[in-house]
Amino acid sequence: MSIQEILKILTDAGIEPNEANVEMKLLLERFADYGAKDIIMGNKLSEEKLKIVKQKAELRAKTRQPIQHIIGFANFMGEDFIVNPSVLIPRDETEFLVRKAVDVIKNNGFTFALDVGTGCGCIACMIAKLTECRVIGLDISTDALNTALDNASRLNLYNKAIFRKSDVFSNVKPGEKFDLIVSNPPYIPKSAKLHIQKEVTFDPDLALYTNDEDGLEFYKRIISGACEVLNSGGYLLFEVGQGQAQPVAELMKLKNFGDIEIISDLAAIERVVCGKMNNN
Ligand code: GLN
Repeated sequence: MSIQEILKILTDAGIEPNEANVEMKLLLERFADYGAKDIIMGNKLSEEKLKIVKQKAELRAKTRQPIQHIIGFANFMGEDFIVNPSVLIPRDETEFLVRKAVDVIKNNGFTFALDVGTGCGCIACMIAKLTECRVIGLDISTDALNTALDNASRLNLYNKAIFRKSDVFSNVKPGEKFDLIVSNPPYIPKSAKLHIQKEVTFDPDLALYTNDEDGLEFYKRIISGACEVLNSGGYLLFEVGQGQAQPVAELMKLKNFGDIEIISDLAAIERVVCGKMNNN
């Protein structure tokens, strides 16, 4: 059994060669503690370790579970986040949301932020790590909150990234106000579920789907409640799905948000909507 043969298990299952190479590297690191250094040094992999890696590659090929579930981690902005079936696997595009939030926080000297639907906590943790802000991450799922908590402790962010069970703002305390709200909420209408890519079916439904037809349900809920929990001059930032930036921007304008900015991702899809609450 060789690494090449294991790689073939992945490509035979229809995984693109480039992707299969990346996945192979992750499997070797995670389950055989074997990396580029070992290859350069000419270190050999034991049959025993190769067998474990092969089993994991077979599991990936057979079930099409995302590689992140098999290794138990997903890399986001250079950090490894624990992931499991209770949380959405962080997507690269979400970095645009985090970077914009970090800019806004630094430019305004903000100190207190809220992440609605925190999932594995990747957004809350990265904002807490990259700024002086304390961040509260809210989620309706207890399993997701436990994962987020584990991630914050792995990153030594105990006091800066805090998590609380809450259905959108249901558990924000009366009078509690934030400088910035950030959210990457579920935005796929349930009706689109049939057409979704196999790997995505391993993300929790709670993190993906809305009950309405246009996927705007959570944007509407968050925008309506935001004025109650934002300090005056506070910001609201969303990640959105394809085609949702304009409608979300309109909804924000209707609720007294101005200075609306839309940021596109690398695929030129409008991905982030950012707005400032006008003073009343
Ligand atoms: N905030 C988390 C993320 O961006 C989870 C988002 C979600 O579950 N919809 O990864």
